[in-house]
Amino acid sequence: VFVCFEGGEGGGKSTQSRLLHDRLVAAGFAVRLTHEPGDTPVGKEMRRIVLSPETGELAHKTEFLLYLADKSEHVETLVRPALGRGEVVITDRYVDSTLAYQGAGRALDRDELEDVSRWATGDLRPHLTVVLDLEPSAGLARFEGRDRIEGEGLEFHQRVRQSFLDLASRNPGHYAVLDARAPIDEIAVQIWERVEPLLVQ
Ligand code: C5P
Repeated sequence: VFVCFEGGEGGGKSTQSRLLHDRLVAAGFAVRLTHEPGDTPVGKEMRRIVLSPETGELAHKTEFLLYLADKSEHVETLVRPALGRGEVVITDRYVDSTLAYQGAGRALDRDELEDVSRWATGDLRPHLTVVLDLEPSAGLARFEGRDRIEGEGLEFHQRVRQSFLDLASRNPGHYAVLDARAPIDEIAVQIWERVEPLLVQ
């Protein structure tokens, strides 16, 4: 089973992915909790380049390809092998982040990005994508130190948010769009209600 967490900044993706991980482990499942960008040795380098304020301006296509290199490495060396061993894989960000940030955010053609992303991941799709939806001004307020992307303007983050919602509405059976302002344990219950049925297949 492959579950992704998506959404803008400050929506609690890492908290909720950790809670889901812990609950699955307690229930006896083998679970791999991972994230993009940066959970492989090459990915860490990509993450450093794309997020460091010292990098300065990057051509939008260069930025996209760096994220994609991280993703391809992540899927080939970590996600697929874990799924092959029968583990539940939970990832904090995946293809939708690329479509939202580099597509809607950077105004690259989303269909083209989608084609290349599907190629880079061998079209590995999650069984469920949890979108933790939050008004960007509220999410960004949770950060003090800003990376290259968090420092983008509010309009950028509003396009990103809308893109996550559009992607979810295209395929509602594979998405759970949750209000990230709800209490943490309430959100965790809503996530569990969507994940549990996947485990008994
Ligand atoms: O989720 P996390 O905080 O690790 O993401 C790191 C940064 O990478 C965030 O600022 C996020 O906006 C950015 N990002 C991006 N494009 C992606 C994935 C992440 O701009 N495809």
